[in-house]
Amino acid sequence: MFLSRLSRKHSLFHGHEKEPPLYTKKCLVSLKTLLDRYQSDRTNCVHPFIPESCVNGDTKSPTDTKSLLEQLSCWADTQTSVQKVLEHLKFRQANADIFLNDSINRKFLEFHRDITEECGAEDKQHSWAVIEKQEEIVMYGPYYPNYIKGEHSEDIIIKQTQELLESDVVSEDWKVYVFTMNSPCLARNTAPCMLNLVQKAQEWWSVHGVRTHIGYVKCWGFKGTKENLFRNINHSQVDCIAQTEDHESYVKAAEKSTDLNPLCENLFSSVKHLLRSVSFPSMNLVQGQDWKSYFKSMHGVLSEDEKTIFPQVVNTMIEASQGLLSEKSESFEECLEKGRAFASDYTFSPQVSDAIQDQMRLAFQQCWKQMAQDKSAEFIREKLTEDFNQRTVQLFIKDAVKCTKQYLQIGRIRFSGEDLQATQVVR
Ligand SMILES: [Zn+2]
Repeated sequence: MFLSRLSRKHSLFHGHEKEPPLYTKKCLVSLKTLLDRYQSDRTNCVHPFIPESCVNGDTKSPTDTKSLLEQLSCWADTQTSVQKVLEHLKFRQANADIFLNDSINRKFLEFHRDITEECGAEDKQHSWAVIEKQEEIVMYGPYYPNYIKGEHSEDIIIKQTQELLESDVVSEDWKVYVFTMNSPCLARNTAPCMLNLVQKAQEWWSVHGVRTHIGYVKCWGFKGTKENLFRNINHSQVDCIAQTEDHESYVKAAEKSTDLNPLCENLFSSVKHLLRSVSFPSMNLVQGQDWKSYFKSMHGVLSEDEKTIFPQVVNTMIEASQGLLSEKSESFEECLEKGRAFASDYTFSPQVSDAIQDQMRLAFQQCWKQMAQDKSAEFIREKLTEDFNQRTVQLFIKDAVKCTKQYLQIGRIRFSGEDLQATQVVR
């Protein structure tokens, strides 16, 4: 257990939603005690959002605040910033991640190991934080979001950190480490976590002289998997984009079609660039999911009488095709061809008439084609979302770093064994 093993480390836990396992019993300093002390000792910094009120004319702070707000103002307007990211998305990069520098990364790995030893590995969104002082290390968390209350895990981190910093005489060599599984969000009903954290880091620096480091594992972008920017990109759209040269000719083609609403130029370009640079995914992605539902219409080929005579013929053919799904990656055309070959080579039981066999083969091919089209469009949407989220975080950090270099570092945590090539490191 790390509390006894590493005497410098203290953990502080405050029951939130579900009690963090073990920690509450082991607290060396209870948060309540600290908070009580904070309430009685607090003399200034009444309004934590106005750092300049606390620094007695230190001119660095108001200037910093102003330039930071200016620098990040476009990120407060989601629509504008989404367009900005889309414009960058068409210039695909092999890796758009920004990593923490080595020494900070090592610290995060060390803390992560301690937390994982104590609480177990966790894949879903959660956050924890550490205040590193000369004489001790205070760890708090993990905290989980409570979406019903509209509370993100970073909200709790900010509150706890604020309280801890205000409850003690802070020395300038203290460091705050904020871990969050997904990078802090950039869009939600209230102020997004990323902006809150950057603002707080600025405040903690100007009020307490404390540096902040934010490390994450996955790029969440604006709203992560709930990003719906690409939801209208179906196979017809992808097909139309693939067959046209530029946005103008695409719009003309889309307008002629009955079921296509033309996409804006940025979206068009993003899809176009993606199509040029990725290969079709293996269809084994379909396995274990909803693939059988694509073949439902095959049951309609048989009349009621025929269904009685050959009750299993459709299911047997569908089951037999499952083997195709687990085969290796291929192009979209190769995937279609595989379905065609399967249908024409398939051996029915001898009682099934030639006419029914032909209808079944045709129906199978149509269903297979629909599945391949849907799955390839789904892949495109997922890839676009992933790239978009990654690029969003990258662009945000690049903007933020321009005026927060002194006191804030944000980046993805690099775990040992990851490919170190094609990475960017914040300096
Ligand atoms: Zn958030």
